[in-house]
Amino acid sequence: MSPQPQSTEAPAAASRPTILPVQFYEDRLSVSASARKPSPLWELFSAESNPGLLSLLAGKPHPDTFPFEYIHLGVRSPGAAGEQVTKELTIKDEELHVAMQYGMTAGEKELRDWLTTLTERVHSRGPNEGWRVSIGAGSQDLLYKAFNALLNPGDTVIVEGPTYPGATPIMTALGCKYVSIDVDNDGIIASDLEKVLDNWDSSKPKPKAVYTIPFGSNPAGVTASYERRVEMLKLAKKHDFIILEDDPYYFLYYGDRPRPPSYFSLEGKILGEVGRVLRFDSFSKVMAAGLRLGWLTGPDRLLGAIEAHSMTNIVQASSISQILAIKVLREWGIDGFLKHVQNAANFYKRRRDVMAAALDRHMKGIAEWTQPDAAMFFWIKLKLPMSVDLQSVEIDGDSTTFIRSKAIDRGVLVLPGATSFVDGRQTARVRVSFSLLSDEVTEEAIKRLATVLTEEIH
Ligand code: PMP
Repeated sequence: MSPQPQSTEAPAAASRPTILPVQFYEDRLSVSASARKPSPLWELFSAESNPGLLSLLAGKPHPDTFPFEYIHLGVRSPGAAGEQVTKELTIKDEELHVAMQYGMTAGEKELRDWLTTLTERVHSRGPNEGWRVSIGAGSQDLLYKAFNALLNPGDTVIVEGPTYPGATPIMTALGCKYVSIDVDNDGIIASDLEKVLDNWDSSKPKPKAVYTIPFGSNPAGVTASYERRVEMLKLAKKHDFIILEDDPYYFLYYGDRPRPPSYFSLEGKILGEVGRVLRFDSFSKVMAAGLRLGWLTGPDRLLGAIEAHSMTNIVQASSISQILAIKVLREWGIDGFLKHVQNAANFYKRRRDVMAAALDRHMKGIAEWTQPDAAMFFWIKLKLPMSVDLQSVEIDGDSTTFIRSKAIDRGVLVLPGATSFVDGRQTARVRVSFSLLSDEVTEEAIKRLATVLTEEIH
């Protein structure tokens, strides 16, 4: 098994970075987040862990009335020689009570502590550098609340072109405006963003945040280079925006270049200050999407605003899911987790190679693509006939119409690229996922796509 690629070394900090003051966030919270106070009920729960305190506070149901006696698990762990070892574990007694009960909005302490240690190890930032972690019901839940915490109607947010089509409906519903900056093979093109911001109309408020997917971006499959990340961080300080680092594919990096450090790990080293980066991680791609567990890493005031939202919304991420995750992570330890995610990354690398070979066999000359170095997507430009849209803009093809009216009928479905642009442009691009299909089915699917595309071109 190959070890995790080493991080590109960032220059060592001359001294401890400055932590941005609470006022920085007060000035940036949305009107609704500023007005939202933590629930007086859930806020008091933290006092229940005070030693010797007798709590008559909670309306918690008694576990003896619940029908669950134990939960028996079979957990697959990475063995020493790369093999999988299955171990039986049981959730019972006090642990079962915790799994069946209401818990803290920020998440189970053991899970938060585990993630704090993971963050210190993976992102090389000490816990006294202005951050903590908070658990949510998947990154989607946390993205939703983070956008709500920061953005007012009419605010501008910077997104990548293309960007994750699961995030933009949240911002659109909030009445946000977009600046879309294209990505190339090194990630978001920071120099394009700099031009936009340097020439910003001073009568309009500047963008508050950039939303970026820095590893194996969904859908472009691109990993932002170290140099781009540094450029973006410097721009964040120069033009005073927050970086929303949505990184569910961080652990699924299998590129040949050394793994670039996260924005979260770099900000102090590059800027000499910390607090501009809010990081979103997820268990969905490396443990189970159905657990619905993700975690946020960042400044206390922003996390507090998001937790205040959860207190009046889902209250907390599922206790059962958190105990399941704790059982597995306790069994693995940090080293076991890193081995497991490396195995998962190797799995996707192999799948990528299978799809790359199928593309080479069937799509040469009728499409263009580059190899992703993380995650599970190819971002393919089909050589569809060029056309002109209603605004008389020349477009490289319309994959939406092609997929909807031709490809589906011929038994193959991919995501039309237009779903991933906020400016409404049509595009010949499509997102092709290689996560689930077997080698044989991958071959057949790409063959079908090539056949229907060839018919369309000729
Ligand atoms: N961000 C990105 C870029 C994603 O691709 C996804 C899932 N497809 C999410 C967020 C949401 O992940 P989760 O399952 O943790 O809610």
